[in-house]
Amino acid sequence: MNAAASAYPAHMKRSRGVPMIRASRGNPQSAAITRLALAYARLWGARICFDAEFGLFVCNGMRGGYARGGTTIGGAFLTGREPARSLLRHEAVHADQWATYGWAFALRYLFEESRRRGASNRFEIAAGLADGGYRDS
Ligand SMILES: [Zn+2]
Repeated sequence: MNAAASAYPAHMKRSRGVPMIRASRGNPQSAAITRLALAYARLWGARICFDAEFGLFVCNGMRGGYARGGTTIGGAFLTGREPARSLLRHEAVHADQWATYGWAFALRYLFEESRRRGASNRFEIAAGLADGGYRDS
């Protein structure tokens, strides 16, 4: 079910004028995760903007605190430098996965990673290996 994208309740929490529910794909649990991720990103010196095309908060310029080229937590992508559009497309799928599973996504992802690492991880395959910068293996 896709909640009416145009009509957010006035009381909905916002960041940078953007309803949290948009980055969290309508999942309140993912919205809570996203808020924590934004607070965490600020501690690492992030500049935060909202990418309207992919519905993702981009937390750029972080001094550290993320893995690989960046990490998506809820509806927030945490990274150190300006990401390519293709990478944001990949990370937006991870935001969808957070919205699908809520907090359990962290455990599901780590469990999957323990069995099938990197480019074999089904969550990475679903997000698009080429977009995510994975080499064919
Ligand atoms: Zn990925």
